[in-house]
Amino acid sequence: MEQVLLYILLGVEVVLRVVLEVRERRLTQVRGGVFAVLRVVPLLNDIVPLPEMRKTPAESAFVEKHEEGHRSLHHGILRSVTKIIFLIVAVWFLAAMLTRFGLSIYESVLWLHLAAIPFRAIFHLYCWNQEYEADAYAMKQLGKSRAKDAMRELALCEIPYTKLFAVIYREHPTAPLRQRHLLGK
Ligand SMILES: [Zn+2]
Repeated sequence: MEQVLLYILLGVEVVLRVVLEVRERRLTQVRGGVFAVLRVVPLLNDIVPLPEMRKTPAESAFVEKHEEGHRSLHHGILRSVTKIIFLIVAVWFLAAMLTRFGLSIYESVLWLHLAAIPFRAIFHLYCWNQEYEADAYAMKQLGKSRAKDAMRELALCEIPYTKLFAVIYREHPTAPLRQRHLLGK
């Protein structure tokens, strides 16, 4: 019975990811390439990399201050701790699936994959918040006009993604989102 449910849910996942890809191609007019196909496949989509930049943004005082902001707000360590907590919960979840529910390792991993999807999105939003904080830190040090320039540069370098797509796949908010957060428009 649980087996049927598992495969129904995986089927739903595939359909929703296809819809998300099609929507993304329509709204951004950017081709997805082979990664777009791989992202649809359960488990594989947990490890497919997401290209984020067309070119690396030029080194600037804003980028430097942004990184300084991450350091002074202890973002790296907070992110690591959060990841470790997720990892511990994942191990506990796997153990429960194997022992209490007597599932095979294969099915347990697939259940973990499904259960992790919403937590991954929440983790992304948490990371986004850190990025907004680091941007705000940099703007406080350098002023609004330098911040504006940096956001413009970022928008030029970044591969455009929609907000929904970014919530599912990215640890960084999109350039337009960062701009809106920082400059309020
Ligand atoms: Zn950052």
